Formats: sequence, structure tokens, C-alpha cells
Amino acid sequence: MGITLYSLGAAQEVTGSKHIFEIDGRPFMIDCGAFQGKRRESDEKNRNFDIAADKLESVILTHGHYDHCGLLPVLTKKGYTGNIYATPATRDIASLVMMDSARIQARDAEYLGKQAVKKGEQFSWKPLFDEDDCVRTANQIVSVSYNRKMYIAPDVELEFFDAGHILGSAFANITIKGIHSKMSAPHPARSGDDEIRILYTGDLGRKNQPIIRDPATDIPAPDYLFIESTYGDRKHEDKEFAIHELEQVVLEACAKKGKIIIPSFAIERAQELVFYLHLLVDQNKIPNIPIYVDSPMATNATGIFRVHPECYDDEVKEAFLQHHVNPFGFGELRFTTSVDESKSLNKMEGPLIIISADGMCEAGRILHHLANNISDKRNTILIVGYMAENTLGRRIRDGEKNVKIMGDMYPVEAKVEQINAFSAHADYTELTAWLDSIDKSRLKRIFMVHGEKDSQTFFHHYLAQHGYDNVTIVKYGETYKIE
Ligand SMILES: [Zn+2]
Repeated sequence: MGITLYSLGAAQEVTGSKHIFEIDGRPFMIDCGAFQGKRRESDEKNRNFDIAADKLESVILTHGHYDHCGLLPVLTKKGYTGNIYATPATRDIASLVMMDSARIQARDAEYLGKQAVKKGEQFSWKPLFDEDDCVRTANQIVSVSYNRKMYIAPDVELEFFDAGHILGSAFANITIKGIHSKMSAPHPARSGDDEIRILYTGDLGRKNQPIIRDPATDIPAPDYLFIESTYGDRKHEDKEFAIHELEQVVLEACAKKGKIIIPSFAIERAQELVFYLHLLVDQNKIPNIPIYVDSPMATNATGIFRVHPECYDDEVKEAFLQHHVNPFGFGELRFTTSVDESKSLNKMEGPLIIISADGMCEAGRILHHLANNISDKRNTILIVGYMAENTLGRRIRDGEKNVKIMGDMYPVEAKVEQINAFSAHADYTELTAWLDSIDKSRLKRIFMVHGEKDSQTFFHHYLAQHGYDNVTIVKYGETYKIE
């Protein structure tokens, strides 16, 4: 009897978020994300995560990133038929992300199959899920807007609060009711004492992100808190400084009549860049040069941003909704969709800006743009996101003189610039400032998830220095009893 907590992913690592709370053996799941990283290893983990899907009562989704929603179709395939609760914008973004993954997996399976046939090898790799699975999963999603309380079981209430991470991202505030009377403990006198509150941050964003609102601080006091720690040992550059750097990069490229190639994640980062470029044009700090968003995924994601004004911060509402047709389209901004349009960008003369995916230069149209532009001195490759080890993006960032793109070697003549401040995750000072600002009058214990070991060790120590001494780093396979 009682409540147990455990994690099946994002425990001492940053991907595969899956957190479970169990009430008297009834499991509820927060996020069902895919593991990413080394291909073979993550594929194995994604196929074999251990949950009795048919026993799950409910699933709650904090936001639409692949490492939080990517295995929902697998859960459905395993027999989960219940509801998946998410904000309306998260429902749309997650549907897009899952479907995109199904298509990529189908293409990979076809390609790898052909390669195997050529070599006369056995081939057995199959996609984790297909488009039909995604459609079934999308049909299980029940939208719950921010700050709307909803019973997801007779004794469990859910409320979403702004997480300030990406469009639709939310903290999941869980209130388990009637817990002490159920456990036959003496009935407490104060109201709110016959309940347990668990707050899951999902990914926690930063203050003053463009477009979306800041992470909420006005939240019912939690008893237990699950906090992310991606940047538990890193501090970001100042946002104002980053915008100034962006301005300088654009001005320099204009002077050289060069092209600026920006590898970018399709969701949030691409829209954020467009937002800042728009701002700089509006302030007459940069000329109105052509900007191309060349990524079908980014184009689709931008469409989702357009239809969710309920997620906007006051600034976007005021500055853009009242003065422009929409906040994500202006003057010289173009969204290219067809392959022909994409190819035609090669022939154009600078100055111009191309924003394309994927963010780490491992696949997608960005590869063609790099191949076509990286060996021209006039051009700039602007790095704005995280580049994991062993990726082309990382090699370019690290200043390699020659890089292999789609099988051919190219000398790197273009200028490589880097701006570090466009992160969607709070750094450790921002995480601590957020903690400082919430009501901790009931807080018994903090559980740390979603971070690499080094980062968590540092953050654990830092929190202890700031008066947070009951912090547990969640380990895979361990269960934690609470009451
Ligand atoms: Zn995220």
C-alpha cells in the first residue's frame, strides 16, 4: 500500500524521459520519450522498455520533444488504450514529431534493406512504429489547457502550468487525494493535508524566451518535486548579448555579400531565430535581406505556432498580433517546401540567410546547403544549438579544416560563428532561481532527473550550498516510497 515513484528513462541521462507514480499498484506515467544517442544502443532501449502498458491508468505528456513523446506509439502498440493528457499545442507538436519519426524510420528501413541486399547480408531491422500507430496515438490524446484542473482518476487531479521551454510545454502538477484516510492514518485537521502533491517540471525553460511565457512560479506548494538538470553544470550567455552577436554576424555577411547558413532544430529554435531577425529588421539594425526557412518540419511547426496564440507572452501579443498579420511571417521571410525550391537557393546570390534542419547537421536539407556553401570564403556557418559528439555539426564547430558531407570531402573556407545563448533549458543558476521563487512550505524532497552524471553531481552540490539538502538523484531501476 502507498505511493511509489520510479523512472524508466532520463535517470542519470538526458533522453528517454519516463517517470511513473504508482498509487496502490496503479501506475500513472509522465512522458514516454525515446532514447537518443548511439544508434544501436538506443534502438535496443527503445524496443525493450519495461512497462505493463495495459495496466497503465493514464499518461501525461509535458511537451512535444522526441525525447519526451517519441515512444507513445510504442506504448499504444504494446496495448495501452487509455488517455494521454497534454496541452493543445503539445498535442499538435507531438503529433508532428511522432509522424516525422515514423517517416524517417520507414526511409531508414528501406535504405538499410537495400544496402543489405547488395551485400548479400541478412536484414531484420524494423521501424519501432509506423504512421498508423501515430494516428492511433494521436487519437488517445486529450487536451487540457494551462491552469485548468482536471481529474484523471477519482483520486488524482492534474493541472498544467507554463514551463517556458517550447510552445505548449508544461509542468505537470499532480494532486493525489484522500491518501491518509486511505492509509488509515489519523485524519489530519488542516485542509490540503489529506493529499500529496507531486510536481514534474518536464524540461524547464528560461525567463524572457521569445514567443512563449516564462516558467510559472505561482504553483500550489508541492510535497515532492521532480526537476530536470540538463544544464546542471553550465551557465548560458546573456540573451541581449546573443542578439547583438546575431546582428554583427548578419552585418558582416551583408558586407561580404555572403550567405549565412544556420543549422537549426525545426521546433522552437527556428521560430525563435525568425523572431529575433524580425526584431532586428524592425529596429533597423540589419537590412531587410531574404531569409529562407528551408525545412518542411520547421515550416509545419511554424504553422502550429500560428494557431496557438494562447501560448504567447504579452510581448508577442502586443508587438506583433496588433501590428502584423502574424508573428512568424514578415517582409523577406520565405518558407520553402518543395525540393526544387530548396535547390534553387543554391543559385542565388548573397546576402541571404538560410535556416535549415537538422540542428546537428546529421540529415536533411542542411547537408546540401553546407555542401554548396562551406567552401566559399564569403559565407558564414552560424552554429546556434547543441552539437553532440561525432556529428558533422560538432566537427564544423570544432574548426576542422576539411569535412565529409554526404560522402565527399569539402574544405571549410566559410567563417564559422557560434552563439551560445539560444538554449531552451534553464542553466543551473536559473534552475536554482526558479526553485527559490516557488512555495516550498510543504516541500519534503527533490528528485533530480534528466541530466548527465557530471552535470547532476555538480548541481546536487550547488543546491546543497544553497540550502537544498534533501535532493535525490534518481537512479534507473530504483523505487522511492513517499507518503
Ligand atoms: Zn525538451
